Amino acid sequence: MNISKSEKLFEEAKLYIPGGVNSPVRAFKSVGGNPLFISRGEKGKMIDADGNEYIDYIGSWGPHLFGHNPEFIKKALLESIEDGTSFGAPTEIEIKMAKLIVELVPSVEMVRMVNSGTEATMSAIRAARGYTGREKFIKFEGCYHGHADYFLIKAGSGALTLGVPTSPGVTKGNAADTLLADYNDINSVKELVAKNKNEIAAIIIEPIAGNMGVIKAEAEFIKELRQICDEEKIVLIFDEVMTGFRVSKGSAQEVLGIKPDLSTFGKIIGGGLPVGAFGGKKEIMEQIAPSGPIYQAGTLSGNPLAMAAGYAALSHIKDNPGIYDELEKKSLYLADGFMHNLNELGKHFAMNRIGSMMCMFFVEEDVKDFKTAIKSDIILYGKYFHEMLKRGIYLAPAQFEALFVSTVHTTEDLDKTIKAHYDSLKTIL
Ligand SMILES: *Cc1c(COP(=O)(O)O)cnc(C)c1O
Repeated sequence: MNISKSEKLFEEAKLYIPGGVNSPVRAFKSVGGNPLFISRGEKGKMIDADGNEYIDYIGSWGPHLFGHNPEFIKKALLESIEDGTSFGAPTEIEIKMAKLIVELVPSVEMVRMVNSGTEATMSAIRAARGYTGREKFIKFEGCYHGHADYFLIKAGSGALTLGVPTSPGVTKGNAADTLLADYNDINSVKELVAKNKNEIAAIIIEPIAGNMGVIKAEAEFIKELRQICDEEKIVLIFDEVMTGFRVSKGSAQEVLGIKPDLSTFGKIIGGGLPVGAFGGKKEIMEQIAPSGPIYQAGTLSGNPLAMAAGYAALSHIKDNPGIYDELEKKSLYLADGFMHNLNELGKHFAMNRIGSMMCMFFVEEDVKDFKTAIKSDIILYGKYFHEMLKRGIYLAPAQFEALFVSTVHTTEDLDKTIKAHYDSLKTIL
Protein backbone atom coordinates (compact mmCIF):
# COMPACT_ATOMS: atom_id res chain seq x y z
CA MET A 1 0.00 0.00 0.00
CA ASN A 2 1.19 3.47 -0.85
CA ILE A 3 1.81 5.73 2.08
CA SER A 4 1.10 9.38 1.32
CA LYS A 5 3.56 12.14 2.06
CA SER A 6 1.08 13.62 4.58
CA GLU A 7 1.01 10.30 6.45
CA LYS A 8 4.80 10.12 6.53
CA LEU A 9 5.07 13.69 7.76
CA PHE A 10 2.46 13.06 10.44
CA GLU A 11 4.37 10.03 11.75
CA GLU A 12 7.53 12.14 11.94
CA ALA A 13 5.74 15.14 13.48
CA LYS A 14 4.37 12.97 16.29
CA LEU A 15 7.93 12.19 17.39
CA TYR A 16 8.72 15.83 18.08
CA ILE A 17 5.42 17.69 18.58
CA PRO A 18 2.66 16.53 20.98
CA GLY A 19 0.13 14.72 18.79
CA GLY A 20 2.04 15.96 15.74
CA VAL A 21 0.29 19.34 15.69
CA ASN A 22 0.60 22.77 17.26
CA SER A 23 -3.14 23.11 17.95
CA PRO A 24 -5.26 20.04 18.77
CA VAL A 25 -8.21 20.34 16.35
CA ARG A 26 -5.80 20.09 13.39
CA ALA A 27 -5.13 16.43 14.23
CA PHE A 28 -8.53 15.16 12.90
CA LYS A 29 -9.20 13.42 16.24
CA SER A 30 -12.91 14.07 16.22
CA VAL A 31 -13.43 12.81 12.64
CA GLY A 32 -10.79 10.08 12.61
CA GLY A 33 -7.98 9.57 10.13
CA ASN A 34 -4.77 11.53 9.62
CA PRO A 35 -4.42 15.25 8.97
CA LEU A 36 -3.27 16.60 5.63
CA PHE A 37 -0.01 18.50 5.60
CA ILE A 38 -0.48 21.64 3.57
CA SER A 39 2.24 23.02 1.37
CA ARG A 40 0.52 25.95 -0.33
CA GLY A 41 -2.58 28.12 -0.34
CA GLU A 42 -3.90 29.90 -3.40
CA LYS A 43 -7.08 31.98 -3.36
CA GLY A 44 -9.94 29.64 -2.31
CA LYS A 45 -7.82 26.50 -2.51
CA MET A 46 -5.13 24.65 -0.58
CA ILE A 47 -2.64 22.16 -1.97
CA ASP A 48 -1.36 19.37 0.28
CA ALA A 49 2.09 17.79 0.50
CA ASP A 50 1.03 15.16 -2.05
CA GLY A 51 -0.08 17.78 -4.55
CA ASN A 52 -3.84 17.24 -4.03
CA GLU A 53 -5.99 20.34 -4.38
CA TYR A 54 -8.89 21.21 -2.09
CA ILE A 55 -11.50 23.96 -2.03
CA ASP A 56 -10.87 25.38 1.44
CA TYR A 57 -13.72 26.41 3.74
CA ILE A 58 -11.64 26.71 6.92
CA GLY A 59 -9.53 29.65 5.79
CA SER A 60 -6.99 29.09 8.57
CA TRP A 61 -9.94 28.96 11.03
CA GLY A 62 -11.22 32.39 10.08
CA PRO A 63 -8.51 34.86 9.05
CA HIS A 64 -8.72 34.37 5.28
CA LEU A 65 -11.72 36.53 4.42
CA PHE A 66 -10.07 37.22 1.05
CA GLY A 67 -8.77 33.70 0.51
CA HIS A 68 -5.15 32.60 0.66
CA ASN A 69 -2.29 34.97 0.03
CA PRO A 70 -4.13 37.97 -1.46
CA GLU A 71 -1.87 40.24 -3.51
CA PHE A 72 -2.42 43.33 -1.30
CA ILE A 73 -1.39 41.57 1.91
CA LYS A 74 1.62 39.94 0.28
CA LYS A 75 2.73 43.34 -1.06
CA ALA A 76 2.36 45.01 2.37
CA LEU A 77 4.43 42.25 3.99
CA LEU A 78 7.20 42.39 1.39
CA GLU A 79 7.44 46.17 1.76
CA SER A 80 7.49 46.01 5.54
CA ILE A 81 10.14 43.29 5.78
CA GLU A 82 12.62 45.52 3.96
CA ASP A 83 12.74 47.73 7.07
CA GLY A 84 13.24 44.93 9.58
CA THR A 85 11.11 42.47 11.51
CA SER A 86 10.79 43.80 15.07
CA PHE A 87 12.02 46.77 17.08
CA GLY A 88 10.44 46.54 20.53
CA ALA A 89 9.76 50.25 20.24
CA PRO A 90 6.71 52.16 19.02
CA THR A 91 6.12 52.40 15.27
CA GLU A 92 3.78 54.57 13.21
CA ILE A 93 1.88 51.63 11.72
CA GLU A 94 0.57 50.79 15.23
CA ILE A 95 -1.20 54.18 15.33
CA LYS A 96 -2.63 53.66 11.86
CA MET A 97 -3.89 50.22 12.87
CA ALA A 98 -5.46 51.47 16.13
CA LYS A 99 -7.12 54.42 14.37
CA LEU A 100 -8.59 52.15 11.71
CA ILE A 101 -10.06 49.74 14.28
CA VAL A 102 -11.53 52.69 16.20
CA GLU A 103 -13.00 54.05 12.97
CA LEU A 104 -14.55 50.74 11.88
CA VAL A 105 -15.91 49.68 15.29
CA PRO A 106 -17.58 52.66 17.02
CA SER A 107 -17.69 51.06 20.52
CA VAL A 108 -13.90 50.87 20.48
CA GLU A 109 -12.33 54.15 21.61
CA MET A 110 -8.90 52.76 22.46
CA VAL A 111 -7.25 49.49 21.59
CA ARG A 112 -4.24 47.41 22.69
CA MET A 113 -2.66 44.96 20.24
CA VAL A 114 -1.66 41.44 21.34
CA ASN A 115 -0.55 38.28 19.52
CA SER A 116 -3.55 35.94 19.65
CA GLY A 117 -7.24 35.74 20.43
CA THR A 118 -6.44 34.00 23.70
CA GLU A 119 -4.30 36.90 24.84
CA ALA A 120 -7.03 39.34 23.84
CA THR A 121 -9.78 37.63 25.87
CA MET A 122 -7.64 36.96 28.94
CA SER A 123 -6.49 40.58 28.94
CA ALA A 124 -10.06 41.86 28.51
CA ILE A 125 -11.14 39.85 31.57
CA ARG A 126 -8.22 41.26 33.55
CA ALA A 127 -9.15 44.78 32.45
CA ALA A 128 -12.76 44.23 33.56
CA ARG A 129 -11.64 42.82 36.90
CA GLY A 130 -9.17 45.60 37.49
CA TYR A 131 -11.67 48.26 36.49
CA THR A 132 -14.56 46.94 38.62
CA GLY A 133 -12.53 45.57 41.53
CA ARG A 134 -14.64 42.39 41.26
CA GLU A 135 -13.38 38.84 40.62
CA LYS A 136 -16.10 36.64 39.08
CA PHE A 137 -17.30 36.63 35.50
CA ILE A 138 -20.02 34.92 33.48
CA LYS A 139 -19.40 32.95 30.31
CA PHE A 140 -21.84 30.90 28.26
CA GLU A 141 -21.75 27.16 27.77
CA GLY A 142 -20.48 26.32 24.29
CA CYS A 143 -18.70 29.66 23.75
CA TYR A 144 -14.95 29.45 23.26
CA HIS A 145 -12.66 32.26 24.37
CA GLY A 146 -9.22 30.75 23.90
CA HIS A 147 -7.27 28.56 26.30
CA ALA A 148 -6.60 30.72 29.37
CA ASP A 149 -7.19 28.75 32.59
CA TYR A 150 -10.37 30.47 33.70
CA PHE A 151 -12.15 29.89 30.37
CA LEU A 152 -11.61 26.12 30.42
CA ILE A 153 -14.55 25.58 32.74
CA LYS A 154 -17.86 23.86 32.10
CA ALA A 155 -21.04 23.70 34.09
CA GLY A 156 -21.06 21.19 36.94
CA SER A 157 -23.64 18.43 36.86
CA GLY A 158 -26.87 18.29 38.80
CA ALA A 159 -28.04 21.07 41.04
CA LEU A 160 -24.50 22.16 41.86
CA THR A 161 -23.84 25.51 40.28
CA LEU A 162 -20.07 25.31 40.68
CA GLY A 163 -18.15 25.06 37.43
CA VAL A 164 -15.57 22.32 36.83
CA PRO A 165 -12.28 22.50 34.90
CA THR A 166 -12.33 20.91 31.42
CA SER A 167 -8.57 20.34 31.43
CA PRO A 168 -6.05 18.98 33.89
CA GLY A 169 -3.88 21.84 35.08
CA VAL A 170 -6.78 24.22 35.59
CA THR A 171 -7.33 24.84 39.28
CA LYS A 172 -10.52 24.65 41.34
CA GLY A 173 -9.74 28.23 42.29
CA ASN A 174 -10.07 29.27 38.66
CA ALA A 175 -13.32 27.33 38.33
CA ALA A 176 -14.76 29.11 41.34
CA ASP A 177 -14.61 32.50 39.64
CA THR A 178 -16.11 31.41 36.32
CA LEU A 179 -19.91 31.28 36.28
CA LEU A 180 -21.69 29.37 33.49
CA ALA A 181 -24.90 30.58 31.87
CA ASP A 182 -26.92 29.17 28.96
CA TYR A 183 -26.70 30.89 25.56
CA ASN A 184 -29.92 32.67 24.55
CA ASP A 185 -31.38 32.11 28.04
CA ILE A 186 -31.58 35.43 29.88
CA ASN A 187 -33.04 33.86 33.02
CA SER A 188 -29.90 31.81 33.53
CA VAL A 189 -27.97 35.11 33.55
CA LYS A 190 -30.42 36.84 35.88
CA GLU A 191 -30.12 33.99 38.39
CA LEU A 192 -26.33 34.15 38.47
CA VAL A 193 -26.35 37.94 38.78
CA ALA A 194 -28.83 37.81 41.67
CA LYS A 195 -26.83 35.12 43.49
CA ASN A 196 -23.52 36.96 43.04
CA LYS A 197 -24.62 40.54 43.65
CA ASN A 198 -21.78 43.07 43.22
CA GLU A 199 -19.27 40.27 42.62
CA ILE A 200 -19.42 39.98 38.83
CA ALA A 201 -16.81 41.92 36.89
CA ALA A 202 -17.77 40.89 33.37
CA ILE A 203 -20.06 38.96 31.09
CA ILE A 204 -18.19 37.63 28.08
CA ILE A 205 -20.02 36.29 25.04
CA GLU A 206 -19.54 35.41 21.40
CA PRO A 207 -22.30 37.68 20.03
CA ILE A 208 -22.61 35.22 17.18
CA ALA A 209 -21.32 31.92 18.49
CA GLY A 210 -18.97 30.14 16.11
CA ASN A 211 -17.49 27.51 18.38
CA MET A 212 -20.56 25.33 18.93
CA GLY A 213 -21.39 25.41 15.27
CA VAL A 214 -22.92 28.74 14.29
CA ILE A 215 -25.59 30.23 16.55
CA LYS A 216 -26.77 33.82 16.64
CA ALA A 217 -27.67 35.54 19.88
CA GLU A 218 -31.38 36.41 19.77
CA ALA A 219 -32.14 40.15 19.59
CA GLU A 220 -34.13 40.29 22.82
CA PHE A 221 -31.56 38.22 24.71
CA ILE A 222 -28.62 40.41 23.76
CA LYS A 223 -30.62 43.59 24.47
CA GLU A 224 -31.44 42.36 27.96
CA LEU A 225 -27.86 41.32 28.50
CA ARG A 226 -26.81 44.91 27.78
CA GLN A 227 -29.46 46.20 30.23
CA ILE A 228 -28.35 43.88 33.02
CA CYS A 229 -24.74 44.96 32.57
CA ASP A 230 -25.77 48.64 32.72
CA GLU A 231 -27.88 48.15 35.84
CA GLU A 232 -25.32 46.03 37.68
CA LYS A 233 -22.21 47.89 36.48
CA ILE A 234 -20.89 44.73 34.85
CA VAL A 235 -18.47 45.07 31.92
CA LEU A 236 -20.01 43.54 28.80
CA ILE A 237 -17.35 41.92 26.62
CA PHE A 238 -18.09 40.82 23.07
CA ASP A 239 -15.58 38.22 22.00
CA GLU A 240 -15.36 39.05 18.29
CA VAL A 241 -12.19 37.09 17.63
CA MET A 242 -14.10 35.11 15.00
CA THR A 243 -16.93 37.49 14.07
CA GLY A 244 -14.83 40.68 13.98
CA PHE A 245 -14.82 41.96 10.36
CA ARG A 246 -16.24 38.58 9.28
CA VAL A 247 -19.96 39.31 9.47
CA SER A 248 -19.80 43.04 8.68
CA LYS A 249 -17.24 45.82 8.57
CA GLY A 250 -18.39 46.91 12.03
CA SER A 251 -18.39 43.27 13.26
CA ALA A 252 -21.22 41.37 15.02
CA GLN A 253 -22.01 44.35 17.25
CA GLU A 254 -23.01 46.28 14.14
CA VAL A 255 -25.24 43.41 12.96
CA LEU A 256 -26.92 43.15 16.37
CA GLY A 257 -27.03 46.89 17.03
CA ILE A 258 -25.61 46.53 20.55
CA LYS A 259 -22.48 48.24 21.88
CA PRO A 260 -20.33 46.23 24.29
CA ASP A 261 -17.98 47.92 26.79
CA LEU A 262 -14.99 45.90 25.59
CA SER A 263 -14.41 43.88 22.44
CA THR A 264 -11.79 41.32 21.54
CA PHE A 265 -10.47 40.64 18.07
CA GLY A 266 -8.13 38.20 16.35
CA LYS A 267 -8.13 36.12 13.17
CA ILE A 268 -9.09 38.59 10.39
CA ILE A 269 -7.34 41.61 11.96
CA GLY A 270 -3.99 39.85 11.53
CA GLY A 271 -4.36 39.27 7.79
CA GLY A 272 -3.05 35.74 8.42
CA LEU A 273 -0.35 36.71 10.91
CA PRO A 274 -0.59 36.11 14.68
CA VAL A 275 -2.52 39.13 15.95
CA GLY A 276 -5.16 39.82 18.55
CA ALA A 277 -6.54 43.00 20.06
CA PHE A 278 -8.78 44.15 22.86
CA GLY A 279 -10.38 47.55 23.10
CA GLY A 280 -13.40 49.54 24.10
CA LYS A 281 -14.37 52.40 26.37
CA LYS A 282 -11.60 54.86 27.05
CA GLU A 283 -12.52 54.91 30.73
CA ILE A 284 -11.64 51.22 31.00
CA MET A 285 -8.75 51.09 28.53
CA GLU A 286 -6.95 53.97 30.25
CA GLN A 287 -6.63 51.72 33.30
CA ILE A 288 -4.21 49.52 31.32
CA ALA A 289 -0.46 49.97 31.96
CA PRO A 290 1.37 52.25 31.51
CA SER A 291 -1.47 54.82 31.63
CA GLY A 292 -3.10 52.88 34.47
CA PRO A 293 -2.28 50.16 37.02
CA ILE A 294 -3.63 47.04 35.23
CA TYR A 295 -0.60 45.19 33.91
CA GLN A 296 -0.55 43.88 30.36
CA ALA A 297 2.46 43.54 28.04
CA GLY A 298 3.97 41.74 25.04
CA THR A 299 7.49 41.59 23.57
CA LEU A 300 6.17 41.18 20.03
CA SER A 301 2.83 42.98 20.43
CA GLY A 302 2.19 45.40 17.57
CA ASN A 303 4.91 43.67 15.56
CA PRO A 304 5.51 45.64 12.35
CA LEU A 305 5.04 42.69 9.98
CA ALA A 306 1.86 41.63 11.73
CA MET A 307 0.58 45.22 11.68
CA ALA A 308 1.43 45.58 7.98
CA ALA A 309 -0.64 42.48 7.16
CA GLY A 310 -3.48 43.44 9.49
CA TYR A 311 -3.59 47.02 8.29
CA ALA A 312 -3.68 45.85 4.67
CA ALA A 313 -6.62 43.54 5.49
CA LEU A 314 -8.61 46.18 7.37
CA SER A 315 -7.87 48.88 4.80
CA HIS A 316 -9.15 46.57 2.10
CA ILE A 317 -12.36 46.13 4.10
CA LYS A 318 -12.72 49.89 4.61
CA ASP A 319 -12.14 50.65 0.93
CA ASN A 320 -14.38 47.84 -0.36
CA PRO A 321 -17.52 47.80 1.81
CA GLY A 322 -19.28 45.91 -1.01
CA ILE A 323 -17.43 42.72 -0.08
CA TYR A 324 -20.04 41.91 2.55
CA ASP A 325 -22.84 41.89 -0.06
CA GLU A 326 -20.67 39.69 -2.21
CA LEU A 327 -19.98 37.33 0.73
CA GLU A 328 -23.69 37.26 1.55
CA LYS A 329 -24.57 36.38 -2.05
CA LYS A 330 -22.01 33.58 -2.26
CA SER A 331 -22.89 32.18 1.15
CA LEU A 332 -26.62 32.27 0.43
CA TYR A 333 -25.98 30.48 -2.86
CA LEU A 334 -24.07 27.74 -1.05
CA ALA A 335 -26.61 27.44 1.78
CA ASP A 336 -29.51 27.34 -0.70
CA GLY A 337 -27.73 24.58 -2.59
CA PHE A 338 -27.28 22.61 0.63
CA MET A 339 -30.94 23.14 1.59
CA HIS A 340 -32.06 21.98 -1.83
CA ASN A 341 -29.96 18.82 -1.43
CA LEU A 342 -31.42 18.17 2.01
CA ASN A 343 -34.94 18.50 0.66
CA GLU A 344 -34.14 16.07 -2.15
CA LEU A 345 -32.83 13.62 0.42
CA GLY A 346 -35.78 14.15 2.74
CA LYS A 347 -33.61 15.37 5.62
CA HIS A 348 -34.31 18.46 7.67
CA PHE A 349 -30.93 19.04 9.27
CA ALA A 350 -30.45 22.40 11.00
CA MET A 351 -28.55 24.83 8.76
CA ASN A 352 -27.47 27.93 10.63
CA ARG A 353 -25.91 30.80 8.72
CA ILE A 354 -24.99 34.39 9.44
CA GLY A 355 -23.26 35.98 6.46
CA SER A 356 -20.22 33.96 5.47
CA MET A 357 -20.28 31.74 8.59
CA MET A 358 -22.41 28.64 8.44
CA CYS A 359 -22.88 25.22 9.96
CA MET A 360 -24.96 22.18 9.14
CA PHE A 361 -25.86 20.15 12.21
CA PHE A 362 -26.79 16.50 11.89
CA VAL A 363 -29.96 16.93 13.90
CA GLU A 364 -33.50 17.61 12.70
CA GLU A 365 -34.45 20.38 15.10
CA ASP A 366 -33.59 24.05 15.60
CA VAL A 367 -30.16 24.64 17.11
CA LYS A 368 -30.10 27.71 19.33
CA ASP A 369 -27.83 26.84 22.24
CA PHE A 370 -25.25 24.34 23.47
CA LYS A 371 -27.82 21.76 24.55
CA THR A 372 -29.42 21.58 21.10
CA ALA A 373 -26.05 21.81 19.28
CA ILE A 374 -24.67 18.72 21.00
CA LYS A 375 -27.62 16.64 19.81
CA SER A 376 -25.92 16.60 16.42
CA ASP A 377 -24.75 13.14 15.32
CA ILE A 378 -20.98 13.66 15.29
CA ILE A 379 -20.26 10.15 14.01
CA LEU A 380 -22.26 11.06 10.92
CA TYR A 381 -20.40 14.36 10.70
CA GLY A 382 -17.10 12.45 10.66
CA LYS A 383 -18.30 10.32 7.74
CA TYR A 384 -19.59 13.40 5.90
CA PHE A 385 -16.27 15.17 6.46
CA HIS A 386 -14.28 12.33 4.89
CA GLU A 387 -16.66 11.96 1.93
CA MET A 388 -16.33 15.70 1.25
CA LEU A 389 -12.55 15.51 1.58
CA LYS A 390 -12.45 12.66 -0.95
CA ARG A 391 -14.30 14.97 -3.33
CA GLY A 392 -11.80 17.79 -2.86
CA ILE A 393 -13.71 19.85 -0.29
CA TYR A 394 -11.81 20.81 2.87
CA LEU A 395 -14.17 21.40 5.81
CA ALA A 396 -13.39 21.79 9.49
CA PRO A 397 -12.45 18.38 10.93
CA ALA A 398 -15.01 18.78 13.73
CA GLN A 399 -18.78 19.33 13.80
CA PHE A 400 -18.87 22.33 16.11
CA GLU A 401 -16.94 24.67 13.84
CA ALA A 402 -17.97 27.18 11.22
CA LEU A 403 -17.68 26.83 7.48
CA PHE A 404 -16.24 30.09 6.12
CA VAL A 405 -16.90 31.42 2.63
CA SER A 406 -14.33 33.85 1.25
CA THR A 407 -14.54 36.61 -1.34
CA VAL A 408 -12.49 34.54 -3.79
CA HIS A 409 -14.58 31.37 -3.83
CA THR A 410 -15.88 31.12 -7.41
CA THR A 411 -19.30 30.00 -8.64
CA GLU A 412 -17.52 26.95 -9.99
CA ASP A 413 -16.13 26.22 -6.48
CA LEU A 414 -19.56 26.64 -4.93
CA ASP A 415 -21.26 24.41 -7.54
CA LYS A 416 -18.64 21.72 -7.05
CA THR A 417 -19.19 21.94 -3.29
CA ILE A 418 -22.98 21.67 -3.58
CA LYS A 419 -22.63 18.59 -5.79
CA ALA A 420 -20.12 17.03 -3.37
CA HIS A 421 -22.51 17.75 -0.50
CA TYR A 422 -25.31 15.86 -2.27
CA ASP A 423 -23.12 12.92 -3.26
CA SER A 424 -21.53 12.70 0.19
CA LEU A 425 -24.85 12.71 2.04
CA LYS A 426 -26.31 10.20 -0.42
CA THR A 427 -23.40 7.88 0.34
CA ILE A 428 -23.60 8.04 4.14
CA LEU A 429 -27.32 8.39 4.90
C1 LIG B 1 -10.33 31.54 17.82
C2 LIG B 1 -11.03 32.15 18.96
C3 LIG B 1 -10.37 32.53 20.15
C4 LIG B 1 -8.93 32.19 20.40
O1 LIG B 1 -8.07 32.80 19.52
P1 LIG B 1 -6.57 32.18 19.36
O2 LIG B 1 -5.92 33.13 18.40
O3 LIG B 1 -6.76 30.80 18.82
O4 LIG B 1 -5.95 32.20 20.70
C5 LIG B 1 -11.08 33.21 21.10
N1 LIG B 1 -12.37 33.49 20.93
C6 LIG B 1 -13.06 33.14 19.82
C7 LIG B 1 -14.49 33.52 19.69
C8 LIG B 1 -12.42 32.44 18.81
O5 LIG B 1 -13.12 32.05 17.74
